[in-house]
Amino acid sequence: MAYWVGLTGGIGSGKSQVAAAFADAGVPVIDADVISRSLTADNGKALPEIRTQFGDDIFDQDGRLNRAQLRDLVFRRPEAKQQLEALMFPLILSEIKQQQQKYSQAVYGVIDIPLLIEQPEFMVLANRILVVDTLEQNQIERVRRRSHLEDAEIRRIMASQASRKEKLLVADDVLPNNGTIQELTGKVDRLHCYYQARFLYLSRVNL
Ligand code: ADP
Repeated sequence: MAYWVGLTGGIGSGKSQVAAAFADAGVPVIDADVISRSLTADNGKALPEIRTQFGDDIFDQDGRLNRAQLRDLVFRRPEAKQQLEALMFPLILSEIKQQQQKYSQAVYGVIDIPLLIEQPEFMVLANRILVVDTLEQNQIERVRRRSHLEDAEIRRIMASQASRKEKLLVADDVLPNNGTIQELTGKVDRLHCYYQARFLYLSRVNL
């Protein structure tokens, strides 16, 4: 059985960059966002239940889920957000568990879950929590450059996520990302050596 590291951090903290560095080191990486999107893509497993609960209006004429409309609905009505999460979370959990089983021979793997702290239902999937931490001004600059969002929109997203302090409180390991990408990659390589040694030891003593 593989051990799993839950990788999380605020928007623009550098999670995707860190996930890519682990993947480059040969570590299996599962992306919870990709899984979530595949469940609502064409023929996605979540679509029948979304249609039952939210009605035909949320779908366009060729049967595609209208994501913008759903996002808007969830943004305007907190109870709709809860309803959607209650529907999606068990499906996402089950998909991630299925993928984890595929890597049972690995020493360890990484699950990239952006909202792990905000959605503690997913903590059961990870043996250890790794938080990528960056200064707020870096977060804003990087998201502005990557996604071309207005500062106000970036701040709104950041305010909807757990604070740095909350994230650091539940972290087992912290990867500061305030330097260059090369520095970050070097830190991931060192952490990878540590995780390999740690999880190999734990598997030998059966913990
Ligand atoms: P997240 O997945 O946490 O939202 P990303 O990994 O996509 O964040 O990083 C946000 C943006 O910042 C990306 O364009 C990424 O290439 C860039 N980035 C990440 N870390 C650094 C860094 N140390 N220096 C410069 N740019 C960075």
